[in-house]
Amino acid sequence: MSKVLVVVELGDGKLRAHSLPGITAGQQVAASLSAELHLLVLGASPQAAAEAIAAEGWGAKTVHVAAHAGLEPFTAEAWADAIVVAARAIGPTAIGGTATSTLRDALPRAAALLGAPLAPEVTGVKGPRIFSREVWAGRALAELAMEGDLFFFTARASEFAPAQPGGAAASVASVDGVAANQRGVQVLSIEKTQSARPALTEAKVVVSGGRGMREGANFRVLEELTDLLGGALGASRAATDAGMVPADLQVGQTGKVVAPNLYIAVAISGAIQHLAGMKGSKVIVAINKNGEEPIFQIADYGLVAKWEDAVPRLTELIRARKG
Ligand SMILES: Cc1cc2nc3c(=O)[nH]c(=O)nc-3n(C[C@H](O)[C@H](O)[C@H](O)COP(=O)(O)OP(=O)(O)OC[C@H]3O[C@@H](n4cnc5c(N)ncnc54)[C@H](O)[C@@H]3O)c2cc1C
Repeated sequence: MSKVLVVVELGDGKLRAHSLPGITAGQQVAASLSAELHLLVLGASPQAAAEAIAAEGWGAKTVHVAAHAGLEPFTAEAWADAIVVAARAIGPTAIGGTATSTLRDALPRAAALLGAPLAPEVTGVKGPRIFSREVWAGRALAELAMEGDLFFFTARASEFAPAQPGGAAASVASVDGVAANQRGVQVLSIEKTQSARPALTEAKVVVSGGRGMREGANFRVLEELTDLLGGALGASRAATDAGMVPADLQVGQTGKVVAPNLYIAVAISGAIQHLAGMKGSKVIVAINKNGEEPIFQIADYGLVAKWEDAVPRLTELIRARKG
């Protein structure tokens, strides 16, 4: 039986929530090909995490473990090398995962090393070997048909529901002879953002600010609302480019793709490149002083108001409601 291999990521030794849409996509690809679903966990010593993931089922037949000291900290070069070894050992028809910054970096390299085609950031599985994806920042939809013995895909997180654990436990198998050639790349240091807030791509609520916030200090108003809702702070590229907030908060085509339950866009016009990163959100709220802005076309709730008036009032009302 053919196999579909989904690469999943770990955080603090556990399956990361942002890997779950990739598992769903993998389940759909496996169903379309009448194939088995397999998972791949990479790391310095991911055995315990792999066993926990296997116990949860996920519809997978086997959780494969690629262990090598050179896989942590992450470099796309080392991960690509390990994925190539795993691919040769397991022999899947398709390899994929969520289009996270990690896999967007590693999977295309692995595909290139194996001479295999890649369907990047797919938004749907349309049939055996057929995917849909957006092009030109969502202005058009393309359908890709994948050829060859092996193909790769990355799945846009906002377009696939997070997979749920369940079903029979999977087996666990080690990948032998894992290589992790860093090809001259060395991580010298990692500076972690110190934040008590959830990761932007995993948060259930995201509050984003745009150029209309005018300066970084004004984001305090948004931070207050964000923390009250237990969410993550985001921003448009205009706001990050202006240095109001760090670049890793950028939501959009060239930033992070988010799909929270609630997305509050404050003083953001709704350029197509911004929408590409948040239009999969379940409920979108827009606060903007200009009612003609395109953000109101995709908003479920719109408030034509200045943020200076609306956001503190909203925060006050939510705080009062929460008691
Ligand atoms: C290749 C490419 C990639 C890009 N990638 C991204 C991306 O990933 N993410 C992204 O966001 N952009 C991206 N952009 C940029 C994008 O085109 C827009 O320029 C950007 O999103 C605009 O940000 P903004 O909405 O904050 O600013 P503006 O478009 O300037 O909008 C500011 C808004 O604030 C409102 N406003 C002003 N004052 C107030 C007030 N007091 N109260 C309430 N509202 C107020 C205004 O009415 C206006 O709607 C990309 C562009 C290109 C060409």
